[in-house]
Amino acid sequence: MSTQNVRGRRRSSDPVAEVRTAGVASAKDRPRETHREVRRRKSALRQVADFAAASGVGQKAGVALAATGLALTVALPGTSPVMATSESGQTVSAMSVGSQPAVSAAETAKIDFSRAAVATKADPDGKLKQLLSAQSAASVQRASSQGTLGSPLGSLATASPYGYRISPLTGGAGDFHRGQDFVAQCGTQVNAAAAGKVTFVGWHPYGGGNRVVVDHGNGLETTYNHLSSFTVQMGQTVGRGDVVALSGTTGASTGCHLHFEVQANGEVVDPMGWL
Ligand SMILES: [Zn+2]
Repeated sequence: MSTQNVRGRRRSSDPVAEVRTAGVASAKDRPRETHREVRRRKSALRQVADFAAASGVGQKAGVALAATGLALTVALPGTSPVMATSESGQTVSAMSVGSQPAVSAAETAKIDFSRAAVATKADPDGKLKQLLSAQSAASVQRASSQGTLGSPLGSLATASPYGYRISPLTGGAGDFHRGQDFVAQCGTQVNAAAAGKVTFVGWHPYGGGNRVVVDHGNGLETTYNHLSSFTVQMGQTVGRGDVVALSGTTGASTGCHLHFEVQANGEVVDPMGWL
């Protein structure tokens, strides 16, 4: 909270500072900047020439190196430190210029590789589909199901876990809690945990209140309960993360929260085994 405040304050003051700097300093600083640039180029040039002379490459080669070095400095100002590293080897500076395209090609290859990896990771519905095509939802082991469903809320904090508990309504022991309760102020956006088809939108007569059910295929369903309103219709196809409703406290509920259920072949299972 305090971090956000600091960030916000800093962000709001930054443009003002920038404008002030630009307005006052532009006339004074631009020539100075140019001098610095020239000085840097000169020193890089001399560095290479000196290095070439000292290492016995000879004056001609030294000039050639310097010229290449200058070309490199002009074309890629950001790579001027390369000149400094050239001191470690005799013809490294010339070599590094020659191998410049090879280096950038390697970088491109690296980027492509990471993009491919991200694409694979960014297809959780594909992973879920693959898991459910191999076996029905009820027989999937927790180790392989965990993490295959997305969060039904922007941030997840458990208010009451799945399983046997003392009833919050009656105070009696041995109440079986069929889902996981997550903290959610009334009116919070509720997201589909995975891609699927909306198979129920309406009033749940057994305590769920306003309820949405999404069928993910092959025996896997998720339900969203105690909602204040719906944003989907029966039969609608939804994507993972799509808003299906707003949370509420309808039905057998003691306050605003989201009661989230996962059903495997019609039986409720621990949602935390899938989230
Ligand atoms: Zn609940």
